[in-house]
Amino acid sequence: MKGYAMLKIGESGWIEKDTPTCGPADAIVRPLAVAICTSDVHTLWEGAIGERHNMILGHEGCGVVVEVGELVRDFKPGDRVLVPAITPDWNSLEAQAGYSMHSGGMLAGWKFSNFKDGVFSEFFHVNDADGNLAHMPDSINPVDACMLSDMVPTGFHGVELADVQFGDTVLVIGIGPVGLMSVAGASLRGASRIIAVGTRPKCVEAARGYGATEFISYKDGSIAEQVLAMTDGKGVDRVIVAGGGCETFEEAVKALKPGGKIGNVNYLGDGEFITIPRVEWGVGMGHKDIRGGLMPGGRLRMEKLGALVASGRLDVSPLSTHVFHGWEHLEEALFLMRDKPAELIKPVVVIDE
Ligand code: NAD
Ligand code: ZN
Repeated sequence: MKGYAMLKIGESGWIEKDTPTCGPADAIVRPLAVAICTSDVHTLWEGAIGERHNMILGHEGCGVVVEVGELVRDFKPGDRVLVPAITPDWNSLEAQAGYSMHSGGMLAGWKFSNFKDGVFSEFFHVNDADGNLAHMPDSINPVDACMLSDMVPTGFHGVELADVQFGDTVLVIGIGPVGLMSVAGASLRGASRIIAVGTRPKCVEAARGYGATEFISYKDGSIAEQVLAMTDGKGVDRVIVAGGGCETFEEAVKALKPGGKIGNVNYLGDGEFITIPRVEWGVGMGHKDIRGGLMPGGRLRMEKLGALVASGRLDVSPLSTHVFHGWEHLEEALFLMRDKPAELIKPVVVIDE
């Protein structure tokens, strides 16, 4: 089979590989559509996970099951499936402890295009099919289904980590696709004001549609100072971090009320340390929580998030700004994600309707 691979850091291309073999609890899936992620860019061009040779990229997609192992009960060849980016080993001790995304070690629930070949391929392998796949509702098209692999679960995880409550004022730092889903999730959780940090017109328009009430720019100076000026000096109840670097934590802590919570889902690619401002952290006693996490994967979550889309409560279609048809456009879509033109949110490649 052919797959689009990272040949080494900074180099990619189509390669030939054997079709993956299906273990007793596994499934082999043929993609219907795949999406490019900012993480593919970090992996390939920034060496975010270290050197990888001839590893097929991609962890966002949906597909059709072509083979299942003899222990798989709930899926069969021909089933259309949602596929999470994170596919834990559900019998691991980490999963039993409630942190399935770290099954087998820190962040090790992320297998596609990290520990094994990803989804930019004619066929891909899914471990623990009953635990990780979800049936794709008929009303969800393949393009929207791709947004359920990573963008919706990650953006919503930021909301979960920040523990957004009814009536909260929420600050969302970064409104790329992940931050947009954090805005949508905060809105569904009953936030009152949602202050979004971002200026690209396409993202601002989408964020407004998802419930953002006010906008600021990190290019206009300190985020915290702008937020404090908008909140009578009090700050916000919750902060979700979905963009920026280590410096955003300082801003987040300063912008937060005592008792507030920060949920980070952003990948921190540079710097050795995150600085927490001592005074604004209540000299150690401010009850300002800082949490960060990899998205939870697995079937139950995929079914629930899929139900939100299928029921019409969540419209993910504004995210897919660039839709291509056919594998021959994959590289173009990947390079587009790297170059991030202003009107881009997510590129998706449809392989088969
Ligand atoms: P993105 O690059 O499209 O969006 C990030 C946005 O943040 C951009 O629009 C950028 O302009 C903006 N930004 C940059 N600096 C900023 C600053 N100082 N303040 C505010 N905004 C700033 O990326 P994305 O696809 O939306 O993903 C967001 C992050 O989430 C990435 O780092 C990605 O690797 C990470 N991610 C994490 C998980 C997870 O499971 N935790 C999963 C997927 C992606
Ligand atoms: Zn992704």
